[in-house]
Amino acid sequence: MNMKKILFGFAVLFLIVGCGGPDRSSDLVVIDAGHGGHDSGAFSGGKKEKDLVLKIARKLYKELKSEGYRVALTRNTDRFLKLGQRTRIADHKDAKVFISIHANAIANKSRYNIVEGVETYFLQKTRDARSQRIATRENASVLQGTDKLSQDVIVDSVLAGPKVIHSHKLAIDVQNGMMKSLNSKYKGVKNGGAKPGPFYILVGASRPSILVEVGYLTNPKERARLHTSGYQDKIAEGIAAGVGRYLDNRKSQQGF
Ligand SMILES: [Zn+2]
Repeated sequence: MNMKKILFGFAVLFLIVGCGGPDRSSDLVVIDAGHGGHDSGAFSGGKKEKDLVLKIARKLYKELKSEGYRVALTRNTDRFLKLGQRTRIADHKDAKVFISIHANAIANKSRYNIVEGVETYFLQKTRDARSQRIATRENASVLQGTDKLSQDVIVDSVLAGPKVIHSHKLAIDVQNGMMKSLNSKYKGVKNGGAKPGPFYILVGASRPSILVEVGYLTNPKERARLHTSGYQDKIAEGIAAGVGRYLDNRKSQQGF
């Protein structure tokens, strides 16, 4: 071993021992702002889902960076990405987790004031009609320009793997993180829970992947809150807290 290697070894040891807090610089989190470009996503009250989720994605990016994580955004401008482009970055850069951010909407106007809340999805088939409806809406844009032929085969192969268990755990931690963060400042935020759903965006990345629905743009009260910077901050802080909790737990289980 030459002198350079010895010095390098000391430098690494110094960094590990000296920093005190957890070393998160090796943990890459990929954040996907849903929709973009010609695909506006949900649209209500003059506001577009694609713009709201980009704002939240940017806030989450900053939050996670400040906590020491490596972070990548699938898009940082108003542009459309195909399904493969969104998930490829997570696989190429060996991300620890993949988080797709969306906002919800319903078609039935008579229920606009009733249906609200924050939900987090992990990839799993479900019999729940509402989850299926939400997935169908989100999938429609994701599948633009994508070959539909083998989607079911892909879903089945993913569901057989260990990714589902970890994605479920990640979804619970992120959902809890968001609710705790939002409840610290806002009253009456509805907890829609961590739920299974057949979202194609979660199929491609071969690592724990979740889709966050930050609230319903069709609900007047929630829409007004969602478009304030303070509410967006609390969502970003909550997601970051959930990601941190999940990754810390996973590391301790693996004996790091
Ligand atoms: Zn969406």
